[in-house]
Amino acid sequence: MKTRAAVLHEPGRPLEVHELDVDEPLPDEVVVRMAAVGICGTDLHSYVGEWKRPTPIVLGHEGAGVVEAVGDEVSAVAPGDRVVLSWAPACGECGACRRGRPAACAPLSAAIGRGTLLGGRTGLALDGETVYRGTATGALAERVVVAAGAALPLGADIPFEHAALLGCAALTGVGAVLNAARPEPGFSALVIGAGGVGQFVVQGARIAGAGAILAVDPVEARREQAVRLGATHVCAPEELRESVRALDPEGVDYAFDAVGAPETTALALRWTRGGGTAVVVGLAAAGVRLSLDPLDFTNREKTLTGTIYGSEDPAVALPRLLELVRAGQLELAGLVGPSFSLDDAEEAFRASLAGVPGRVLVTP
Ligand SMILES: [Zn+2]
Ligand SMILES: [Zn+2]
Repeated sequence: MKTRAAVLHEPGRPLEVHELDVDEPLPDEVVVRMAAVGICGTDLHSYVGEWKRPTPIVLGHEGAGVVEAVGDEVSAVAPGDRVVLSWAPACGECGACRRGRPAACAPLSAAIGRGTLLGGRTGLALDGETVYRGTATGALAERVVVAAGAALPLGADIPFEHAALLGCAALTGVGAVLNAARPEPGFSALVIGAGGVGQFVVQGARIAGAGAILAVDPVEARREQAVRLGATHVCAPEELRESVRALDPEGVDYAFDAVGAPETTALALRWTRGGGTAVVVGLAAAGVRLSLDPLDFTNREKTLTGTIYGSEDPAVALPRLLELVRAGQLELAGLVGPSFSLDDAEEAFRASLAGVPGRVLVTP
């Protein structure tokens, strides 16, 4: 089987579209014809070389499409089914998987680092040379072969361009609130960074019954979007001190760092009230370190925690997100940014790096 795919040969070199050889699906795998793929922060880390990944590699892990073929043992989905990709089908046997946290699966993490699928192969080649897979997926292609457990049923009513966002940003941002923080209704929240994931943290906080949501972002268009999605207050970074103090001089109950840089995590912890919780949601560049004041944890009894992929099995979380979308509580349409063809995938990455509002999509 063949597929066209956007290939990163090395960080700093523009993406190139090539026709790749694809292994036929194993009995427990499916072929998905991709319809829409979102560019996620994780893709950008690999693209600019902040994370070391083997190359050549096909990035992309947040997407939606149609099942084209299934292996002999697959019964959960059938050809023609519309699906959202999960990048954490996971092994099902390690401690993290048994605890319902497949995104923290040790064999999956190892596979992501190696640029392969969970089973250790990539199933992709260019002129006989192995091509690796971003986030154990490699969705920036017309066709993707993945484990059947990575193709989650979508239903007929949600457009692919909206559904793509469910595959990573929505699961991550909403889950950060509902599963990692688990706040009591009426809580106050600070959301640092109102990009793709941050806007879903804002929505998660609204859905969880927040009394006040302060979103901070340097980009005005993103602040305006946060207000439409449920933020009660917004500010630019230089106004953060006054804005938090005006909300509550002691700080917020929960602070979410949707950026993940050491500076923003420090801000999240700083503006969390005594006894409150700061949650790291965004992913840092490899190798960076945090500097912490231990007295925040003793004298002020703050909690600093983190979350990956919504801290829940995506197969469990996705149906609930779909319910929220259908009930009009979770907005997707307004979060979709510009869309590019597969041939223009390089432009899509540049637009995403430039911080355009909304999720940048590639529609292969
Ligand atoms: Zn992602
Ligand atoms: Zn596992």
